[in-house]
Amino acid sequence: MKLNNPILVTGGAGYIGAHACKALKRAGYSPIAYDNLIYGHRSAVKWGPLEVGDISDRQRLEAVMHEYNPMAVMHFAAYAYVGESVEKPSKYYHNNVAGTLTLLEAMRQCGIDKIIFSSTCATYGMPEQTPIAEDHPQNPINPYGRSKLMIEWILDDFSKAYDLKYVALRYFNAAGADPDTEIGEDHDPETHLIPLVLDVALGRRDQLQVFGTDYETPDGTCIRDYIHVTDLAEAHKFALEYLQAGGQSNFFNLGNGNGFSVREVVASASNITGHDIPCIATDRRLGDPPVLVGSSGKCRQILGWNPVFDSLDTIVASAWRWQRKLKSDGR
Ligand code: UDP
Repeated sequence: MKLNNPILVTGGAGYIGAHACKALKRAGYSPIAYDNLIYGHRSAVKWGPLEVGDISDRQRLEAVMHEYNPMAVMHFAAYAYVGESVEKPSKYYHNNVAGTLTLLEAMRQCGIDKIIFSSTCATYGMPEQTPIAEDHPQNPINPYGRSKLMIEWILDDFSKAYDLKYVALRYFNAAGADPDTEIGEDHDPETHLIPLVLDVALGRRDQLQVFGTDYETPDGTCIRDYIHVTDLAEAHKFALEYLQAGGQSNFFNLGNGNGFSVREVVASASNITGHDIPCIATDRRLGDPPVLVGSSGKCRQILGWNPVFDSLDTIVASAWRWQRKLKSDGR
């Protein structure tokens, strides 16, 4: 099928992938979502065709690549539950690492030479200093983070040996929902802080468990760098344009550079929703660093990216509109 400026988006039916499809469409590209729909939602694919398939299925990938002839790939498809990755590392290495190798082989076969890859701040492991810059040592502490770092290494090796250019974007905490409330976060199971806090506000859960209140932070709870998913999606478009303009393979942090504690998130949600959010302090979650904040200077400087929705209240308010929409749809 002949589409204008086609981009293959693996995981295009997932939370971040769907927001990237919207950003691509708005910028004049044609996103083709490629998703196995294990965690993705058919209803999140609104800006181009959906091709159901697995990244481990080379034949299917090549058939889709031949059909649309994409100029580049944005690669979001991955398993991303840290706790599960510790219990089922094989699942993570097979899907995330071996699956990406299959994707890269299909790209080589079909002559596609640009890829934007969803990496993660989990590749840094326990930070030695904050904010974390891109040259901070990468020592991931769980199979999820390791699987993403292995892919960064593979991309680096492939870019040196073959005709491939890549940008790896290391996300901090993706959060919030599309400002038009067309798409948003809808994980099953949900493990992320902001949707869980909003579940309490909506009465779907009785209380929030706060994982650790004795950290060496001002209020004792963990601090994270929450970045609006639309800002994250826009950064992918900038990364694509950077490669198209002849930019060299590169990697960037994607965060706002501001940290907020669990208690600050709860206070923001309580203020925005007008509901009390009962909390109960529980043990620390294994492997949670006290503070994860990224320095985003490199991304701003080289890609020309600037976050628009960078206040915590804006992020939480967009997520709240989306959660209320899900509820009014009977979800
Ligand atoms: N968190 C929490 N209770 C929850 C879920 C998360 O206290 O029910 C904390 C978690 O320990 C971390 C922060 O909220 O400090 C953000 O967690 P999330 O799982 O959203 O993202 P992560 O930082 O693990 O990628």
